Amino acid sequence: MRPRAYLDNNATGRISPEVLAAMMPYLTDNYVNASSAAGELAGAGMPVQQAKAALAQLLGSHDAQRIFLTSGASESNSWAVHIATHGQANGRLVSTAIEHPSSLAALEAKRMEGWSVDLVRPQASGRINPTDFAQLLSRDTALVSVMLANNETGVIQPIEEIAALVRATVPAALFHVDATQAVGRIALSLEGNLGDADLISVSAHKFHGPKGCGALFVADGITPYPLIHGSQQNGLRGGTPDVASAAGLAAAARLAAERLPLMAKVQLLRDQFEVKLASQLRDVHILGANAPRLPNTSCFVYPGVDADHLVEMLAGEGIVIAAGAACTSGASAPSHVLRAMGVDHSDARSALRVSLSADTTVEELDLALERIVERVVALA
Ligand code: PMP
Repeated sequence: MRPRAYLDNNATGRISPEVLAAMMPYLTDNYVNASSAAGELAGAGMPVQQAKAALAQLLGSHDAQRIFLTSGASESNSWAVHIATHGQANGRLVSTAIEHPSSLAALEAKRMEGWSVDLVRPQASGRINPTDFAQLLSRDTALVSVMLANNETGVIQPIEEIAALVRATVPAALFHVDATQAVGRIALSLEGNLGDADLISVSAHKFHGPKGCGALFVADGITPYPLIHGSQQNGLRGGTPDVASAAGLAAAARLAAERLPLMAKVQLLRDQFEVKLASQLRDVHILGANAPRLPNTSCFVYPGVDADHLVEMLAGEGIVIAAGAACTSGASAPSHVLRAMGVDHSDARSALRVSLSADTTVEELDLALERIVERVVALA
């Protein structure tokens, strides 16, 4: 069943028709194993190369060899931690308190093994202050991991400043950027905002590609010790490649680059939504409003509302939005991101998130707004 209003694009997005079309031949006739002789003859492995090339281009690099396909950003984030720590005596890992649970859990696993893990907290705006990293960096820091844009608030983090600090103080540390929410929404460039990143995580389903497919960029000079052993991808990431997903990833990456200019329209829609929301609900508080934000995300609190309950009721009407940490499926605990920003427990349980895509229409937003206001007034 198609939702009447789909406003949960930070959780996942609709596969573009072009992406589906690119995948279909590999889900039907062209099913030979890409690594076999017949597969090589039939060009079954081509999508893997195409996905790497399209992603490299999206990141502003010509070196497709530095891209490794993974099962998504959770694997990429876990792999980044693995690469930075493998074969090393326990040292320090530095990250932020607002990372995706896949990063936080990978760091926690290392903490259990004896590594020291420091998490920088954001300011009330949701933005990390780069200088807060300064006192945490030391000679034994192996990894600094920071997301480019937060999945819940959309707040964009000052990764260039943080990277500059890391380079100046601990040049041997690896700098990992979880760029999952930024792809297709803001411009990315290995010559610009991602210039100092050693490792970059992305995930296809956040930019209209298939789920269960992503990548890790690994900068020149770093050999990524495998998390999954096997002969594929130069022995660095094992597993029979999912060529259909790779074909989808290639198409989605090309579309993301082409459609980036549409984000100006998306931002306009998001901003209009927030103005209307604030005019109809006087006590609404928009989180991250004073920080640089993704153009598609709006996270807001209306005190006293049970966000989980409201989201469930709206879902019953075919209106899909998110409450708190939508990535933590089934979680009823308030979002760790909002708590780290200093939002109190009760307000964090009242947080709602609306996330748009280039396909979002004014009609969808107006319908969602009408129903949100109606329900909030009834529930608060
Ligand atoms: N990082 C961020 C910032 C995310 O938003 C997500 C998905 N919610 C992930 C990582 C994990 O991505 P995947 O679903 O591909 O494992």
